[in-house]
Order: sequence, then structure tokens, then C-alpha cells
Amino acid sequence: MATIGFIGLGNMGAPMAANLVKSGGHVLGFDVVPASREAAERDGVQVVANARGTVENADIVVSMLPGGEHVLSVWNDVVPHARQGTLFIDCSTIDVASARKAHALAAGRGIATLDAPVSGGVGGAKAATLTFMVGGSAEAFARGKPVLERMGKRVVHCGDAGNGQTAKICNNMILGASMIAVSEAFVLGEKLGLSHQALFDVASASSGQCWSLTSYCPVPGPVPTSPANNGYKAGFTAALMLKDLKLAREAAESVKAATAIGAHAAEIYERFANEGHSGADFSAIINLVREQSKRG
Ligand code: NAD
Repeated sequence: MATIGFIGLGNMGAPMAANLVKSGGHVLGFDVVPASREAAERDGVQVVANARGTVENADIVVSMLPGGEHVLSVWNDVVPHARQGTLFIDCSTIDVASARKAHALAAGRGIATLDAPVSGGVGGAKAATLTFMVGGSAEAFARGKPVLERMGKRVVHCGDAGNGQTAKICNNMILGASMIAVSEAFVLGEKLGLSHQALFDVASASSGQCWSLTSYCPVPGPVPTSPANNGYKAGFTAALMLKDLKLAREAAESVKAATAIGAHAAEIYERFANEGHSGADFSAIINLVREQSKRG
């Protein structure tokens, strides 16, 4: 089985690397944080001294890093040390422009690449049920797919370099906007004397139906597994939702796409984060809507 280098063993990277080990792989891992390296070692990852050490003997290299600047800086450092024939897969959520730069940087050295951001959060990473949205050539996709399938349950080829990131930010722009819309509907219903359950029963079977309502309902009760039933413990944090909405806004500006609702959703999440709630689940945005309804 292929040797896999793994760079970035954080909340997502650690369980993803652990799943590669569980499925029988030899994984060489690195993270700048010592505690993350130690935890990965306990999961069976062979920890190496630096990022370069993950690539020198790897057939495939996966990175799972915070942002575009980290990916470009790490790839700049390690790509020159990779063997010809190595495939690089970046699973971080980053801006489309940086993703395309990363592809170009590796292509300049004859190295094949994929951008493969994920949805499914830490729970999906642990359970190996992530969805991967993948950009890159058909040949690179064919090579990367079996490895991604060991960490997820759906792997979708979205087209050329950067299209995985594009799919990710478009999806999360829908998600952020729809969560706010569902929250506004519940708060409006509350103020008019409509019970949460009654609104759920109607909207979940009507044209207001969407994932934010039926799988991740922002009020406790109707969907027992949603974070609203657990004090809005994340889940997917408001900080990460804000990050993705900003990436979508930036991309929209770069191609002059009119995304008024997406841009407004970014402003609303920014206000929520600035009020100290960045660590809460993103569905806790209903508390801001409720609070503003009192102020207004
Ligand atoms: P995280 O901060 O927990 O992990 C990132 C890791 O990268 C950290 O452990 C950090 O120490 C390491 N790192 C940073 N610079 C490095 C370097 N130069 N060399 C080696 N390691 C380095 O973040 P996360 O929650 O695991 O998210 C990772 C990516 O996945 C982000 O782009 C995020 O937007 C995306 N994502 C996260 C979630 C989620 O629910 N957490 C869901 C979907 C997508």
C-alpha cells in the first residue's frame, strides 16, 4: 500500500490521518504543535521531524492546514523534496486563488495535485464519512480517489484545479444564508406566538424545507441531534462559517458575481463572532437574531 505523508494534524487532520492508519496505510505525519504530534503518534502515525520528512518517501501527500497562506508556504517548502510521481492533495478550505497557485507551484515541478476540501466536520472526519469536493485533472483524481475514500464516504470530482474549493464555498454560502433564514423564521414565529414544533412540522414538509431546518434545526426539540439540544456546542463553529463566507465574498468580488445575501450573511456572522461567540456552533446565530429582535 502507498506511503502517505500527512501535514497538519489538528482537529480534522488527526482523525483523518488515524483513519488512513486504520485502513492499513503507512502514514508519515507532521504538525508544528508538539501535542498534536504526540496524539498522532498514539494513533499509529509515524511522526517525522519536519514537513519535508513527510514527503521524501511518500507516494501521496495530504495537507490539512488552516488557510491559503499556510498551504502555499508549506508546499513551497516541501514540493521540491518530493519524488517525481508523488500526488499532492490539499484538503484544507482555502481561497480559490491560493488553491490555483498551489496547483501551479507543484505543476512547475511536474507534481500532480488535487484540491479536495471537505464537508462533514470533526464528526465526519472521525467516522470517515466526509464528503470530498475535488478539483484537478482526471488522472490525478483517479489516483487520489481511493485514498480519499479511506477518509470519507463521498468523493465528487468537480472539475479542474480550484473547482473543489469553489464547490465548497458555494455550498457553505448556501448553508450560512439558509441557517440565518431558518433562524429568522423561528424568531418571527416565536414573536407571533407560533410554537417551534408547529413551524417545523409545516416548513419541513413544505417549500421552506432545507438542511438547516431538517438536519440541523437551530431550536431545541424538533431535531434531537442538532447542536441546539446541546447548548450549541460545535459542530461547525461560527468562526469557520465566517471564514467560509469571507472566502465566498472574496471570490464573488474577484469575478463580479452578485451575492448580496451571501455577503450579508458574512456581516451577520462577523457581528456574532465579534460579540464573543466564534467558538459556538454556527446554528447559535439564532441567539443573535433573537437578541437583535429585543433591541429593535
Ligand atoms: P486546526 O487548526 O485544528 O488544524 C490545523 C493544523 O495545522 C494545526 O494542528 C496546526 O498546528 C497545523 N499547522 C499550521 N501550520 C502548519 C505548518 N506550517 N506545518 C505543519 N502543521 C501546521 O484546524 P481544523 O479544524 O483541523 O481545520 C483544518 C482545515 O479544514 C481548515 O482549512 C478548515 O477550514 C477546514 N475544515 C474544518 C472543519 C471543522 O469542522 N473543523 C470542517 C470542514 C473544513
